[in-house]
Amino acid sequence: MLESLKEEVLAANVDIERQELAKLTWGNVSGIDRERGLIVIKPSGVPYSKLKIADMVVIDLENRKVEGALRPSVDAITHVLLYRAFPQIGGIVHTHSPCAVAFSQALREIPCLGSTHADHFLGPIPLARVLTPEEIREDYEGNTAKVILERFAGLDPLDMPAVLVAHHAPFIWGRSAREALKNAVALESVADMALKTLALNPAAPLIPEHMLKEHHDRKHGPGARYGQESP
Ligand SMILES: [Zn+2]
Repeated sequence: MLESLKEEVLAANVDIERQELAKLTWGNVSGIDRERGLIVIKPSGVPYSKLKIADMVVIDLENRKVEGALRPSVDAITHVLLYRAFPQIGGIVHTHSPCAVAFSQALREIPCLGSTHADHFLGPIPLARVLTPEEIREDYEGNTAKVILERFAGLDPLDMPAVLVAHHAPFIWGRSAREALKNAVALESVADMALKTLALNPAAPLIPEHMLKEHHDRKHGPGARYGQESP
């Protein structure tokens, strides 16, 4: 069941390591089949180089396992709750990519300082609030999704396909697992650029609003003119 989605999710998980977005097993990718309401996700704790298509775990939107011999990623409930809240998205990536983590740990949003950032993300990368001790005790992974969704009140998840979890790391998404992985690569790259910019000039100004909108709209707006026409 869901063979092509499993292949896409497997390839995106392998790309976490290939793109140097996480060491060891500090990351996971999932993808959803919206018609069936089923999610394919990485199994917990299996190294990327050893992952096989048969290892992929299928869960439903109630976080119940539907197929697969292995346990799903411990972050599965976070993925499930994001899919439930954001019907526009089709894939989710979680990594511990170091430059994005630096902002999570510093409890700072990633400011939008230039056009590379604006091409992918419409504004600063939001930071979700720190979880309370009760929230961690009661349901750590579920409440991680809760604080992300709190922060996204009024934000469009396709205009802003990433969030920083305080003291933790980013979650990134897209219309597919493949697109989510691409956004994860872009996020780490813009975090790296922002760190270097702020090291050179801690008072570096934000990109002007008109330039932010122009860069984002030419890739994502109704009159998008970046790349080739889709078939
Ligand atoms: Zn994590």
